[in-house]
Amino acid sequence: MELIVEDAVTVTMAAATGPAGPAGPARAMLVRDGRVAAVGQPGEIRAAASPGARVVRLDGATVVPGLIDAHCHVANIGYLAAGADCSQPSAPAIPAIQARLREAVGRTPEGSWVTGSGYVEYKLREGRHPTRADLDEAVPDRPAVLYHTSLHACVLNTAALREAGFEDGQPDPPGGAFGRDSQGRLDGVVFEGPMFALFERNLRHDITGMGAAQRAALVEGAGRYLAELGVTSACDADTRRDTLAAFAEADDAGVLRQRIYGMVVHEEADWLAASGLRGRRSGRLAAEAVKIWSDGGMSSRTAAIHGTYPVPPYGSGILFFELGELTEMVRDLDARGFQVCIHSQGDRAIETVLDAYAAVLAGVDGNPRRHRIEHGGAMFPPLIARAAELGIVVVSQPGFFSTLGDGFVEAFPDRSDQLYPFASWQRAGITAAGSSDAPVITADPLIGIRDAVLRRTAEGHVLGPGERVGVQDALALYTRGAAFAMRREGEIGSLEPGKLADFAVLDANPLETDAERISGIRVLATVIDGTPVYQSEPIFPG
Ligand SMILES: [Zn+2]
Repeated sequence: MELIVEDAVTVTMAAATGPAGPAGPARAMLVRDGRVAAVGQPGEIRAAASPGARVVRLDGATVVPGLIDAHCHVANIGYLAAGADCSQPSAPAIPAIQARLREAVGRTPEGSWVTGSGYVEYKLREGRHPTRADLDEAVPDRPAVLYHTSLHACVLNTAALREAGFEDGQPDPPGGAFGRDSQGRLDGVVFEGPMFALFERNLRHDITGMGAAQRAALVEGAGRYLAELGVTSACDADTRRDTLAAFAEADDAGVLRQRIYGMVVHEEADWLAASGLRGRRSGRLAAEAVKIWSDGGMSSRTAAIHGTYPVPPYGSGILFFELGELTEMVRDLDARGFQVCIHSQGDRAIETVLDAYAAVLAGVDGNPRRHRIEHGGAMFPPLIARAAELGIVVVSQPGFFSTLGDGFVEAFPDRSDQLYPFASWQRAGITAAGSSDAPVITADPLIGIRDAVLRRTAEGHVLGPGERVGVQDALALYTRGAAFAMRREGEIGSLEPGKLADFAVLDANPLETDAERISGIRVLATVIDGTPVYQSEPIFPG
């Protein structure tokens, strides 16, 4: 089976791509048996093709390598997509949210909480969080939860507050807070710690209770969403036995749209090793990495830092493991052949993680398993140099700048310019990968690419102009860099002969687009193994 893609600006992202030759950038590509057979000018591509090859003309659209999200939460995306969409602008005000929640009641199994997600209080017409009373009006007689888009806050109705065991007189729990009305009664809004616990409990409860068809719908919902964004591969940064089983079922049924690289939580590493699901299961599903959380979050001000935060909760963050314990965990996983991926955001946590990696990698040539740091927000200069020396891969989220960046300015008034230092990583020779952490923020890689170039917050602060990268390098984060972080650079991340034919068709070339407009580029089609998994209009023949 051969496919000629022509009249297409073809951005290969091949490492050796220099200035385009006299013929200009590649305008055509030959796909054979799901792989790239050749990239070049139309004449040479036609000459290389068999007589029966199908030809698709793209009218000057741009082809880029399939975009890769090296750290997101695929199962969580699918889980929330199955509930009520309460995002703005589609639900512009609280009555619209109430209507969406009412609609969701009928399709929510008995014993599960009616679930909505995606709202942002300052985008609502009312300019405030919905309250338990608002939710009670929509869902009076069973628990309902509405998750904030950041997944750092949610609103519970009265039945949910009761089931969660939250009472009016109770003080704020450690690592979290309750919203209260003027009489001090709980208003239903829950922030941080208890919110994370609730989300985790509900997700696990609901997935456990799902039948095969619902699990498939969850995986398909996430796959559809990611495919519409041009994403062809994703690293699921919180894989557990239930979600890995759901991915495996979808893989067997042939409905896994992306290549999923599962990062299994460390508590389940033993289970993974014994399950037979470890390693590469198929071209679409693999689980070779293990996830450890070393500290809290950046936007919740719980990342472990040196010094204290000038904003609530005013602490120094939370470090989950002391160095000795972390080192032994990494040593054990490394010895068993796992790639280790450690969430670390604050400088104190990053220092501890680098110390652990240094101990385990002592005497080893480089970092052969590609152990990673996830996020690396406050990786200040001496830490950058150490990470570079150890060959640590950093997987980070430029899209945080426009979505969460104003909170970073408050939390790091003196050093916010040094957060997520993509240009310094590059100068130090660190391989960095782009990712979204969705559903924490949108999974749209074009927003991440724009933000890596602009580093601008919603309120217009530019966080460290010196840490901006060019658009070619920003695109590399979501292609070559991410492929390397997932140990798949031999197969994905660029369009070169022999690699898999994973690509996205865009209505404009990001390399030639003003940075401000990159997030407005439309994805026309997403292709995996030479087969479209998403098309905005019929481009490829069926
Ligand atoms: Zn994450």
